[in-house]
Amino acid sequence: MNHACRATYSVDETLVDCSKCGHLLDIAYDWSRVPVPGSLKQFESRWSSRRNPLDFSGVWRFRELLPFAKDEQIVTIGEGQTILQSSAGVGKYAGFQTGKLLLQYEGLNPSGSFKDNGMTAASTHAHMVGAKVAACASTGNTSASLAIYSSTTRLFETIVFIGSGKISFGKLSQALDYGAKTLQIQGDFDDALRQVRDVCAARGIYLCNSVNPFRLEGQKSIMFRVLEGLNWEVPDWIVVPGGNLGNSSAFGKAFTELKELGLINRIPRLAVINAAGSNTLYQLFEQHKLRWNGGRLDEAKIITDKFFTQMDADNRRASTLATAIEINRPVNLLKCLRALEVCDGVVREVSDEAILEAKAQIGAGGFGCEPASAASVAGAKLLREQGVISPSDRVVCILTGHQLKDPTATVAYHSVDPARLSAAAATEDDAYATMLRKAGVTQTPAANRPIVVENKFESIMQLLDRIGC
Ligand SMILES: *Cc1c(COP(=O)(O)O)cnc(C)c1O
Ligand SMILES: [Zn+2]
Repeated sequence: MNHACRATYSVDETLVDCSKCGHLLDIAYDWSRVPVPGSLKQFESRWSSRRNPLDFSGVWRFRELLPFAKDEQIVTIGEGQTILQSSAGVGKYAGFQTGKLLLQYEGLNPSGSFKDNGMTAASTHAHMVGAKVAACASTGNTSASLAIYSSTTRLFETIVFIGSGKISFGKLSQALDYGAKTLQIQGDFDDALRQVRDVCAARGIYLCNSVNPFRLEGQKSIMFRVLEGLNWEVPDWIVVPGGNLGNSSAFGKAFTELKELGLINRIPRLAVINAAGSNTLYQLFEQHKLRWNGGRLDEAKIITDKFFTQMDADNRRASTLATAIEINRPVNLLKCLRALEVCDGVVREVSDEAILEAKAQIGAGGFGCEPASAASVAGAKLLREQGVISPSDRVVCILTGHQLKDPTATVAYHSVDPARLSAAAATEDDAYATMLRKAGVTQTPAANRPIVVENKFESIMQLLDRIGC
């Protein structure tokens, strides 16, 4: 994907980076050989043939837009049955006119996160090349997704590498339940990813992290479904949390290709939202003015090398309750810069406090999500306050993962005694208060605290009188 290097590789190779220039690879198509429909609306004909698993899949019913596999090679488990909806409460909270803020709820995927959109594509490619073992490093959702594809299809064995301590139980339980061999590395996600890349290269194991370009092909379909949900109209903004930056990169590629194919007439703007505790992209893009620069990356390399050298020297580690985006070395950094250029994008950081508040608002609006997902709404609210997005803009926030992925953060937010959040009240025995305080949360205005009541009929009745029920 480095514009200076034009090396090409065949689709049946299993490489993640270019052996000539070292950059990640991109999937490129010769569109003149693909029967792409003349309009996006034509994909609607597949709604009537949903008994065909390929037409049912929210990824593969757009298969002409990611045409790297033959139909009989495709591995699908019914992913991508997602919905785009507005929530009046969430829209109002973030400062938008009624109906202008929309939520693309990816928690409805088989493993409960958007990762399935990419994993169906990576599994398809693994199947094409006859892989027997697949692996990934994960903050949780990638491993849950790979594990479900492996256990459902039995096409390959799965090994997942996870960092120590940080993974939420919802996600860990999925990998264990689906039978993935689970290695707990004594380090964080960035360490686990470094290890799995080396191990896969040394052992010929198929690597399923988002360095795998096929993952990104599948994730393009999230944008196809957003357009479908809008009757093929292009929204003004897409707002997405940024971790390893696979999603944002995939979205940029999707819009670039749709525009080239003449299937859309304009490209929406993109906002990528970092957690403040893992804000590499924010720092590089907004503070160091790192740019894609049409693919001329000499200057970018100097800036990023210096940045990461300093990060290592300071031993800076990612830290946020939004564990799915707790990543300091985003592997798709350059692809994301390209997406930001194509989509005239912006990057923002939001605090854990803002993330948890937005998450509670999303929950109250009927869409449970995990903390990382709520960064999108917190980011949209911030951009609205800054006047970057206007109240009448049509904005789509991607809710990347299901609420039940990380119930601990949710229960902590709702049940903590706010008085315990001040440093003065710090007591190490209150686990929730300690957890939130460490994340810099000082108040919980959107909390819905459980009410303790005596095990007595009269007491309960009195309580109901008091709270007006
Ligand atoms: C993986 C993940 C992210 C981050 O996505 P990237 O493509 O790595 O930027 C955000 N939210 C959830 C729930 C995730 O699982
Ligand atoms: Zn190259």
